[in-house]
Amino acid sequence: MDTLSKLQLLADASRYDLACACGTKANDDHRQRTPDGMWLYPVQLPSGGTGIMLKTLLTNSCVNHCRYCPFRAGRDAPRCALEPEEVADTFMHFRRTRGVMGLFLSSGVQRDADHTMDRMLAAVKLLRHKHGFRGYVHLKIIPGASDAAIDDALSVASAVSLNFEAPTRSSFNALCPDKDYERHIVHPVRLISQLTGPGMRHAGVKQTTQFVVGAAEERDLDLLEAMSRLYGRLRMSRIYFSAYQRGTGEAGLPGEAPEKRAQSDGELLTREHRLYQVDFLLRKYGFQAGEIPVDGRGMLSLSIDPKEHWASLHPECFPVDVNAASRDELLRVPGLGPVTVDRVIAARRAGTRLGRLEDIGRPGKIMEKARGFLRFG
Ligand code: SF4
Repeated sequence: MDTLSKLQLLADASRYDLACACGTKANDDHRQRTPDGMWLYPVQLPSGGTGIMLKTLLTNSCVNHCRYCPFRAGRDAPRCALEPEEVADTFMHFRRTRGVMGLFLSSGVQRDADHTMDRMLAAVKLLRHKHGFRGYVHLKIIPGASDAAIDDALSVASAVSLNFEAPTRSSFNALCPDKDYERHIVHPVRLISQLTGPGMRHAGVKQTTQFVVGAAEERDLDLLEAMSRLYGRLRMSRIYFSAYQRGTGEAGLPGEAPEKRAQSDGELLTREHRLYQVDFLLRKYGFQAGEIPVDGRGMLSLSIDPKEHWASLHPECFPVDVNAASRDELLRVPGLGPVTVDRVIAARRAGTRLGRLEDIGRPGKIMEKARGFLRFG
């Protein structure tokens, strides 16, 4: 296979991994296919701007048997691997000819974790040291990588990710029979958090992770508790969710078994969307995980967004006075986001008295949600 054919296969295979700044599936809809069949992704750069990123695997071969993964060992699928030089040279070619600004590099496990990390690091070091590339590189940490390999990765990457995949030891074990939850996931994520902490040598490097939703019998409550720990104690930059894509996993996986399918494919996508809404509530709206309403089975409602659900259960907090409420109180109002709330606060500081809904935002369905929760005292 020539380099371009390998890249076409491996770049397409990388779409299963969302744990990078190229965002959610909604953003994937905006990925562009080049005339030679490569996928380029929109990316939010750490500098605040946007650009396009080349996203690929080093190889889609793997020695592991993660039961949900289309690249697990023994599955019949075309396999190939890039050499580190091929990754670096092709990236620089795309940079010159298409203005690509960043690289996302992941991989299946070739031989063992450190061997794979060595090859990924060789590609990034060629970019950094031979080609003088100083831009954005997101590097996947291979589960089982040594502490030294992780330290090495942090010295060349702008961001790293190691996917949790499941929120508890038991749901993880149901998905990944070859991996040890503590040794392969929890320990390296903690180590990265320490090494990138304030004042540390790798302080500028971001860490993200991803959960597969609906492959094991994990509960949303378990995911909320994991998110709380990851954002709180481990200072995770972002958490991504990927609804399990049925048909790619082992027949015995709970997500594949018809009798265990609690949710249809469409409902799984709605569940993924609800988890992203919760993620925003935790990161941007001041909510704690314990405040997010779940049902008796520990699941989020699919029919109502989590902020509206919380508001419906807390009538004592409403209506909120637009002209007097704190930022935190306003952020709890369904239909009001941080941008609108900051505009309200700025208008009040400037001495403006707000008298009707139209004074605080453009009329529309989202703003209408807020009407019943506000008063204009
Ligand atoms: S280690 Fe990664 S590539 Fe390999 S089977 Fe597991 S999830 Fe798939």
